[in-house]
Amino acid sequence: MPHIIRTLSACAILLLGISCTDNPGLETRDSIAAPGEAGRPFPNAPEIAPIGVRIDKYLDLPDGAKGPGLDPKKGYRTEKLGRDLYMVTDNSYQSMFMVYETGVVVVDAPPTYATKLNEAIAEVTKLPITHIVYSHSHADHIGGTGSLDLSHNPVIVAHDETKMLLARDADPARPVPTVTFQNTYSLEVGSHVLKLSYHGNGHEPGNIFIDAPEQETLMVVDVVFPGWMPFRRLAVSQDIPGWLSQVEKIEKLPFKKLVTGHVTRLGTREDVKTQIEFDDDLKAVVGEALKSNAYVDGINPADMGNTWALVDDYTARVAVQCVTTLTRKWKSRLGGFDTFVWDNCYAMEQSLRVD
Ligand SMILES: [Zn+2]
Repeated sequence: MPHIIRTLSACAILLLGISCTDNPGLETRDSIAAPGEAGRPFPNAPEIAPIGVRIDKYLDLPDGAKGPGLDPKKGYRTEKLGRDLYMVTDNSYQSMFMVYETGVVVVDAPPTYATKLNEAIAEVTKLPITHIVYSHSHADHIGGTGSLDLSHNPVIVAHDETKMLLARDADPARPVPTVTFQNTYSLEVGSHVLKLSYHGNGHEPGNIFIDAPEQETLMVVDVVFPGWMPFRRLAVSQDIPGWLSQVEKIEKLPFKKLVTGHVTRLGTREDVKTQIEFDDDLKAVVGEALKSNAYVDGINPADMGNTWALVDDYTARVAVQCVTTLTRKWKSRLGGFDTFVWDNCYAMEQSLRVD
């Protein structure tokens, strides 16, 4: 039974001039849900459906969230970024490869299309894969490494932290790096160079910047989402202040093309600026909601001894204010705004309270 209907007291009914005997079963809309079940919505509940509620039709994607199409037969698209440097994407994930005089460097191998990466490379060159660079340890970006042609025993380059995480994970699809670095590493192959650098924890320890200076291309994964809402819980970042500062750091670097590991197209400096604007709005709105909502307000007195209930109710009111305020400005500017706005409000709320 989803709801228990609370009836007005006889006294209240008499005050309303209604006879109790005439209406013995009178029920009101002043209802309260069973313990643990959804109750009445908060005042000013946002139009965006909360987490866990099925949506019949998500918001339409704005033009800025759309990218070039894919060849449906291939299921991937290869885009040239500059001399000998290519992006491969399935319009959800992105990776790169660079061809040099005697081999190929692959940067990331998302499992969603890694079996086709060998094909994509073969369309450009017959040279073997001699190097692999991991942007970070997450399986959704490098878990297709085991599907690549590894017959030439490629050198695998990554950050020290990535090696530690992969040694722990012992996943045959993500072989442990053979060359690691702490701050910077210059991968020089033939006439080409990739400059790798580490800027501390953000999305996860070991997530690096990969710069191809000649091609004016920068690859940083899971930090900027060109034209789109950041992935849920601010890209499941382990250090949100670090992640926010990396978005600002990217904006200051001299790139023309940004490979972000996700969604439909290359990123631009304008995309980074837009994300900084969104991040700043999110931070300001949550900061204001944390101050303007009382910690205990309208809670059922029977829950006063339940510390987690007090936190949850307060957090939910902050999130409601956050979602309502952001929706006005952002719902038609970012692809998938409705998918992760609740998660991102909750993530920022948590970060501003504890970081
Ligand atoms: Zn990741």
